[in-house]
Amino acid sequence: MSAAASGSAARSAAPVPRSLLDDSRQITRAIELIKLGARLQMLQAETALPYERLLRLYKEVAGRSPSKGQLPFSTDWFLSWQPNIHASLFMNIYGYLLKTSPLDDVDAIAKAWQLYAAEVGTQDVEPLLSITRAWRLVRFIDAGMLAMTRCTRCGGHFVNNANEIEHSFVCGLCQPPARAGKGRRAGTIH
Ligand SMILES: [Zn+2]
Repeated sequence: MSAAASGSAARSAAPVPRSLLDDSRQITRAIELIKLGARLQMLQAETALPYERLLRLYKEVAGRSPSKGQLPFSTDWFLSWQPNIHASLFMNIYGYLLKTSPLDDVDAIAKAWQLYAAEVGTQDVEPLLSITRAWRLVRFIDAGMLAMTRCTRCGGHFVNNANEIEHSFVCGLCQPPARAGKGRRAGTIH
């Protein structure tokens, strides 16, 4: 009896879910993101579920504890050669989905990431961009820290510094770094 009483006291301190249906949507979204390999920080930012609940859910779905520590990602990662090609491919798919489907932002990120992973898979390339990095990328662009720039040679749109000068930009596919020419390494996109 006293255990039940303290249980309800603890519950009243937690945020109240808006509705049962909303609660179940949040859980479904969290499970999907965990299956795609999302870090706990992404789940915390993109669902309204309490931390303890996310932690339990993560352990149950992933079968292990989430990795600890801060997200190490800075904008620099997205600008190096191969990561930039992967990030740009993802952003193009994501932008297309946002324009053509009624998906929520997070669901569009998840769907775009799955399509991106499938696309590089057809070229026998591992997805360099994790779902958490993809999410960070979208937020960096939302915040104006990164932008999409059109390549003056191929016309494709690539992730870039927000202040990159558009009329002289050439992408990493049209102009790979010198080291890239020395033998085609497996697992790179050309
Ligand atoms: Zn190009």
